[in-house]
Amino acid sequence: MERISHFIGGKVVSGESGRTGPVYNPATGEQTHEVDFASVEEVDLAVDAAREAFPAWRATSLSKRSEIFFRVRELLDERRRDIALEITRQHGKVLSDAMGEVARGIENVDFACGIPHLLKGGFTEQASSGVDVYSIRQPLGVVAGITPFNFPAMVPMWMFASAIACGNTFVLKPSEKDPGVSMVVAELLRDAGVPDGVFNVVHGDKVAVDRLLEHPDVEAISSVGSTPVAKYIYETATRNGKRVQALGGAKNHMVVLPDADVGMAADAAVSAAYGSAGERCMAISVVVTVGEVAEPLVQAILDRLPKVQIGDGTEPDSEMGPLVTRDHRDKVAGYLDSARGQGATVVADGREHQLYGSSNGFFLGVSLLDNVTTEMDCYRDEIIGPVLSVVRVDDYEEALRLVNENPYGNGTAIYTRDGGAARQFQFDVNVGMVGVNVPIPVPVGYYSFGGWKQSLFGDTHIYGPDGIHFYTRGKVVTSRWPDPSTSQVDLGFPRTR
Ligand code: NAD
Repeated sequence: MERISHFIGGKVVSGESGRTGPVYNPATGEQTHEVDFASVEEVDLAVDAAREAFPAWRATSLSKRSEIFFRVRELLDERRRDIALEITRQHGKVLSDAMGEVARGIENVDFACGIPHLLKGGFTEQASSGVDVYSIRQPLGVVAGITPFNFPAMVPMWMFASAIACGNTFVLKPSEKDPGVSMVVAELLRDAGVPDGVFNVVHGDKVAVDRLLEHPDVEAISSVGSTPVAKYIYETATRNGKRVQALGGAKNHMVVLPDADVGMAADAAVSAAYGSAGERCMAISVVVTVGEVAEPLVQAILDRLPKVQIGDGTEPDSEMGPLVTRDHRDKVAGYLDSARGQGATVVADGREHQLYGSSNGFFLGVSLLDNVTTEMDCYRDEIIGPVLSVVRVDDYEEALRLVNENPYGNGTAIYTRDGGAARQFQFDVNVGMVGVNVPIPVPVGYYSFGGWKQSLFGDTHIYGPDGIHFYTRGKVVTSRWPDPSTSQVDLGFPRTR
């Protein structure tokens, strides 16, 4: 069985803890790898390597850092298919989707290439007589990232691109379910000239995470995962004095107004609910139909379902792959029975797909639930699978209330031809990322990504300008060139006029 080990100080380091976890190919159900789970001592080795690399890296000129990031960009471009294949083999998402993930991750590297511009400070000449004031931003030191299974390449890039470009050194703890791609990326960064120790990877579970959360030399934690884990990470790491951004789970609603183009809304709902087998944090999991659009929209969605090609993600025709593990697939399937039991109409049952029973892979077909209400488990829980719920409401106010009362606030979308209604929705809705006739409004790399409410713990969003802010701290310098002729003792508080 192939092992996946840690990457510390520029080298692959075998784990010695005696604890490991299985990694599967979700399309075949076979275990393909064993991943090492780091001990406290192994996490310490990675943090030590990062701490030792920090002084030289932060002193590296911005031009040099930018040059290295351009090289990272070139190598990512050259190797994007290999990276995507590694994602597909361990996550299960189809290759075209994995290529999309890599492309969206590269946007963060594009952004980091502009680090000299991004770290420009402010300068005020003659704030007082002969006195100038300027602001600079400096890196924090060793920072760590804890990432989820569903975007094993892109989410780490959300973090390390800005973190490293700003002059920090980085320790990544990727998901133990699909850890392989982080090693491909680690080797790519080394090949691009990122010095040893600037980027490290430790694999593992709660033991590794807990050590990062309490290690005195880790200055900041970025994490992305489910809400209970995000909350735990935020509370633990802030208690230990660290700067934290912890992104959590989601329940993204797509509101469809009566004037919407039904065909376009149905295309968007199917794409956004079932793409990546619904395992995206920005997947649409609830369609809220307003008024008479319900019947035609449910029918239009249903018409599209038999055409969704499900299969091994490496097959060119596949549009949707398996779920990440057998346990997760079974948990998702369980929501279909609970939904029926609680009064929803199961319009399409993914267990009827032939691959559900006949394959060893972790497949589940697409499912559609109608007449869902807010007390049902399928509405309350984040399912992270190919299950789309339809909630029917009478008017815009009810739709808005539903979205705003939901504990999550990651993404939402509105489908309408009425610009005024869309603008009102954008104004009213308590959600961090809003799409107007766009179902998955993940911000481009030069904006920042982040939800509201239980979808984000911390003050800053991730990547883009917020990422630069998060990974640096401000310093303001007030300076005067010595002029002995004007020097005198003055015990008063410094004044500017
Ligand atoms: P998860 O919360 O199970 O795991 C996330 C990370 O935390 C992993 O590295 C895991 O090893 C670690 N972890 C798990 N349990 C832990 C514990 N008890 N203590 C400490 N660390 C622990 O999430 P997942 O299943 O890998 O990913 C899916 C979740 O991530 C979904 O909820 C999804 O919405 C969310 N997600 C959110 C965003 C976002 O931007 N808001 C993006 C991607 C994924």
